[in-house]
Amino acid sequence: MTRESRFDVLFEPVKIGPVTAKNRFYQVPHCNGMGFNWPQSHAKMREAKAEGGWAVICTEECVIHPTSDYTPEPQARLWDDYDVRCLGLMVDGVHRHGALAGVQLAHNGVGAQNLYTRLPPIGPSPQASIANQPTHTRGMNKQDIREFRRWHRNAALRAKRADADIVYVYAGHDSTLLMHFLSARRNQRADEYGGSLENRVRLFREVLEETREAVGDRCAVAVRMAVDELLGPEGITSEGEGKEIIEMLAELPDLWDVNVSSWENDSMTSRFSDEGFQEKYVGFVKSMTSKPVVGVGRFTSPDAMLSQIDRGVLDMIGAARPSIADPFLPLKIEQGRSDEIRECIGCNTCVSGQLTFTPMRCTQNPSVGEEWRRGWHPEFIPERGSDDRILIVGAGPAGLEAARALGQRGYPVTLAEAQTEPGGRVTRESRLPGLAAWGRVRDWRMGRIQQMANVEVYLDNRLTAEDILALDYQRIILATGAHWRGDGIGISNWQAIPGTQQSHVLSPESVFSDQPLAGPVVVFDDDNYYMGALIAEKVKLQGHDVTLVTPAAEVSPWTQNTLEQHRIQAHVLELGIEVITSKNITRIGSGEVELACVYTDKASVAPAASVVMVTSRTPNDELHLALTADPGLLADSAITSVSAIGDCLCPSTIAAAVHEGHRVAREMDSPPQDPDMPFKREQVLLETAGNQET
Ligand code: ADP
Ligand code: SF4
Repeated sequence: MTRESRFDVLFEPVKIGPVTAKNRFYQVPHCNGMGFNWPQSHAKMREAKAEGGWAVICTEECVIHPTSDYTPEPQARLWDDYDVRCLGLMVDGVHRHGALAGVQLAHNGVGAQNLYTRLPPIGPSPQASIANQPTHTRGMNKQDIREFRRWHRNAALRAKRADADIVYVYAGHDSTLLMHFLSARRNQRADEYGGSLENRVRLFREVLEETREAVGDRCAVAVRMAVDELLGPEGITSEGEGKEIIEMLAELPDLWDVNVSSWENDSMTSRFSDEGFQEKYVGFVKSMTSKPVVGVGRFTSPDAMLSQIDRGVLDMIGAARPSIADPFLPLKIEQGRSDEIRECIGCNTCVSGQLTFTPMRCTQNPSVGEEWRRGWHPEFIPERGSDDRILIVGAGPAGLEAARALGQRGYPVTLAEAQTEPGGRVTRESRLPGLAAWGRVRDWRMGRIQQMANVEVYLDNRLTAEDILALDYQRIILATGAHWRGDGIGISNWQAIPGTQQSHVLSPESVFSDQPLAGPVVVFDDDNYYMGALIAEKVKLQGHDVTLVTPAAEVSPWTQNTLEQHRIQAHVLELGIEVITSKNITRIGSGEVELACVYTDKASVAPAASVVMVTSRTPNDELHLALTADPGLLADSAITSVSAIGDCLCPSTIAAAVHEGHRVAREMDSPPQDPDMPFKREQVLLETAGNQET
């Protein structure tokens, strides 16, 4: 297949200073939870994207000096020559596929934690740390500024030694020293580096010029800058100082990579933003410079990308999350296979890897983070190892991914689903306010399955153990999911809450199926992720008075890891939902719930004609228990294996279910894994990485 000619423009080369990108697809810097801890895993993850057609592949923040230590968050590093070797792994991998490697040099300034190095954080002015640490930042003197410039120059030279093609000067988020100097909020200096905008830009300009002087003969020098902090006049705005800075430095870098700050604005979830949401902020930049402009906006639609180029908004389509969800996105467009793009759903599960200090995972792409560790390729999968016929029970994310991947391997697969539509929890949850894009988890898999002659899907088919034993399949995969329990057992309560057996006490399943309920409604969230607030929102939109009660100190606390907590809590409050934090439910009466403060046990009551318990889930494991109770029955039916995957084994995230579905497919007829170490473990070499400052 070949692409439609209207997409040709996306495949035009773009000159960036001394280097040339082969097309307009640009993987902007993004965190990944691997960084300096797992350099081989990191390198393979980036290489997969280069293979998938991205013309430029960048690192995440690559910190330049021990005064900028982000531990425990794993970033890239270029502190010394040991780090050059780590970075070299990635650069070589990217070059193997004809892509350019970019390195986003960074110093975290007021945002550095320095927990590992124990060096005092530095910033433009003395101030409290913004890294959520009980420490302060030391204001830099002139010698510190000279030192910083030297560190940055040395790091640029190391990037060049690692054979990088693009070196960044970075002020893209409120987490970097150069941004802190630009910002009147953070920079209260009275010398030539503070005060007027021209003074606040001085260090940025110096570093930009020095980077070019150091490496510009062979490397392009890119700037990443947030042109709007979405703080109004308190911060940099695209109509105010953001515009003035671009005007002042317009022709100095070889490329402008522009975005909004801070990270929760830049990587806004689909619940709160649409594709292309940054255009209104960054759209002006191209009119102010002749240099190529890159921007992001969770672009997954080739038409939306084309429109950005055609309308002169961007020169290159920047992507972080869309490149994680589908490392082969450019190649699919190039080969006329746009319908095969696995679109990012905008859930920020990937971000949670970085914020929990672990290799990132993706709801849509189960192979991300597993490229080196398990040798999983995002597109290719070994052919089937036998002619076994496979029955998969349940078409939620686990069953769908297992069916798709086993189908791709060439196995004869039957997928049976009890409901009249596929998708399981994804279908239910994508109907909650703001989660429509989550349906892509189902749609992409169903789209692929429908192209496979060897995969049959039977909807409206609830199977029993007897049915399964009577059918002619050698391999059984159970993906029957889980259901929300209504008795209140969860994180805070290990016994049923008294009163939960009453008919006005409901589980989220009742709200999914629009069962009528009477107000006022109490939603009890002891799950801590997104569900409690969403159930409260759905019920509120039905016109009821709603109180959200949680033993946690804030609404949906785990969504700190998806950068959504602040927005979710603000949204809940703006909807007029009453929020009661730090309280458990001790008893449910006929018209009220009794509450107890989690710190003092002080009792109170809240009126409740209905109560929805969002606490924990129970696996639907009846089939698994029935089929594995008597191995003789399986042998009689010539069934050689029964596996339970996804929520019916262990309720977890959608990403975990997709990963399980993929794993069971990969491991079918493969040599058995070492149960003590089921993947390649990346270990640190016993080598001293000392101070080898050049
Ligand atoms: P997961 O996240 O593990 O994929 P889900 O709950 O999303 O789990 O999906 C499980 C799917 O399995 C649901 O669509 C459910 O209707 C289906 N299912 C459960 N039990 C049976 C059964 N006995 N026969 C067929 N389908 C079933
Ligand atoms: Fe997109 Fe979610 Fe995957 Fe991140 S985890 S790339 S937001 S689908």
